[in-house]
Amino acid sequence: MGSLYTRATDSTQSQKNINLKAESTVIRLSNYVLGEWREGNAPFRNLENPSTGEVVAETSSKGLDFKAIHTYARDVGGPTLRKMTFAERGALLKAMSRAVYAQRERLIDIATANGGNTRKDAKFDLDGATATLSYYASLAKGLGDIHTLTDGESVQLAMSARFHGSHVSSPLLGAAIHINAFNFPAWGTFEKAACAILAGVPVISKPATSTAWLAWEIVKILTDENVLPAGVFQLICGGAGDLLEHTDGQDAIAFTGSADTGAIIRNCEGHVKRSARINIEADSLNAAIIGPDVDVGSDVWFAAVRNIITEMTQKAGQKCTAIRRVMVPMGLMEQLQESLIAELEGVIVGDPTDPNVRMGPLSSGSQLKDYREGVDLLTGEATVVFGSSTEIGNSKGINKNGYFAGPVLLRCDAPEAASYVHGREVFGPVCTLMPYDDSPETCAALIRLGGGSLATSVYSSDKGFLKKLLPEIVTSNGRVLVVDKKVADTATGHGMVMPQMVHGGPGRAGGGEELGGLRGLSFYMQRTAIQGNKALMERIFGS
Ligand code: NAP
Repeated sequence: MGSLYTRATDSTQSQKNINLKAESTVIRLSNYVLGEWREGNAPFRNLENPSTGEVVAETSSKGLDFKAIHTYARDVGGPTLRKMTFAERGALLKAMSRAVYAQRERLIDIATANGGNTRKDAKFDLDGATATLSYYASLAKGLGDIHTLTDGESVQLAMSARFHGSHVSSPLLGAAIHINAFNFPAWGTFEKAACAILAGVPVISKPATSTAWLAWEIVKILTDENVLPAGVFQLICGGAGDLLEHTDGQDAIAFTGSADTGAIIRNCEGHVKRSARINIEADSLNAAIIGPDVDVGSDVWFAAVRNIITEMTQKAGQKCTAIRRVMVPMGLMEQLQESLIAELEGVIVGDPTDPNVRMGPLSSGSQLKDYREGVDLLTGEATVVFGSSTEIGNSKGINKNGYFAGPVLLRCDAPEAASYVHGREVFGPVCTLMPYDDSPETCAALIRLGGGSLATSVYSSDKGFLKKLLPEIVTSNGRVLVVDKKVADTATGHGMVMPQMVHGGPGRAGGGEELGGLRGLSFYMQRTAIQGNKALMERIFGS
């Protein structure tokens, strides 16, 4: 096929010691379903190396019996997990985390080969996966040898002190169906899995096809190491077929991806007619706010600059949490623009295997096209102050067949009258600066034009400003990060999704919510009000 890659029909060829830098194979991904690895039928979809445009893998889920896959999760995986205590499920998550971490170097190579990730980008995804599994494992240890969770104190409901009510949560009897976006094949897959498995619900996971190799390789590791009990985790590499049509009120569908696909998922019959649960994580126009009190060159200033540049360049700006809009006091516009441009000039775009390269390619030809179209729309109402979506200033090792684009910084001087800068999520290395008049009310109104976001970061130490601003923006955001001078050097950063905290956002962001410690389990559990004899109920459900 005229490439470094030669076609292999045996999926076992992807086993240990793939040499991705020398001659490699085109891996045929299979599906881990019904307790075994099964190839789909032709035609296969190609997965590319976005740095070179070469085909690195192919996959299909055609011909799979999705009804049987769903039944297998319910009848085999569900009972197995429900028999296990929280502590035992936690031990399973820990074993998953350890097995994946042990193969980290090989997995980093795959994230580069199929995702165009730099080493840092790949670690962000993989370590996000193993750290989240490990975090939920430690939560489970604290829960111990129980099978249901009680929610709050029991309350006396009648004159008799004996008659009490309490709430208990127990696992749904169906499957957790996880459909993920292309940008985090490891983290996206296993942050969802950690919550579902700990709750006691078996997983059917479908990574985005274009970057599915990494998720596939991880599941291969888990099955090779015999970590996964039968039916607890199934993997589909390709289309979801008619899987969602088999769902009902005991299933939970968690989707991450574009708002358009989210709307299709929301309309599936299992949800509309049979009340399958649904959680949608979709587009988001996230923001950063620079407070009027921030001194140029202060720790808070540099924290803001650092976060904005990271969000623009990490994973080539293909992050759901990426900062797309920055609200800047008018008097600080020029200095912030200068500081950001100075940083962006140092960003080398190119071959992600080169340690000097900060930003790799976009993940596919269609993402690159979409990015360029999006930047064109933004330029209708904002001015480019750095970069271009078609030409790259500072580059190294660019292959002309790869999907590379440089970062673009814009400024929109009349943001209250603009629409695309608040409404079009351009999924790439792009960000728009917007001035405001120092007033928290004006700033909050601009934030709300985003229609609901995953995250907004606020950089300010001015209590008066924060006291007015924060109540005005919290309901438009799933997460708000406040960086003042006391936490400027320790804050985890805008884009870091912490498993202790909820992830998700209202409106355009999909209205969903994931993670947040034990809160993340509630999507996979039924909360039931139990009313009766307190002593008897406590003997059955625990106190
Ligand atoms: P996408 O095109 O919507 O695809 C997302 C997933 O949906 C993929 O697995 C895709 O499978 C699947 N899919 C597509 N059509 C489907 C259908 N009819 N039935 C069932 N599944 C279907 O999104 P993407 O391009 O991968 O991801 C980029 C988007 O994700 C961005 O908008 C970004 O903001 C969003 N995102 C949000 C978050 C968050 O946490 N809020 C996180 C990451 C990304 P195929 O790949 O096989 O088509």
